[in-house]
Amino acid sequence: MSIYCADCSYRGKKSGQGGRCPACGSPTLRREGSDADTASAGNGKWRLLLLGLLWALLTVLIAQKLWP
Ligand SMILES: [Zn+2]
Repeated sequence: MSIYCADCSYRGKKSGQGGRCPACGSPTLRREGSDADTASAGNGKWRLLLLGLLWALLTVLIAQKLWP
């Protein structure tokens, strides 16, 4: 992920102090590479669903052990 300054068209990986442009100090920074962010958010959703399924399976297994 990199940042892009709309004022001086600075491009870099890190923003300056307080999230401002290190070149001109403008706060109008834009983040690039949002596609990767969306993809990781989608992965998180699937991971949460998988975790829920695992918990359901575990609950069923425990219930079967307690009440045979
Ligand atoms: Zn700038």
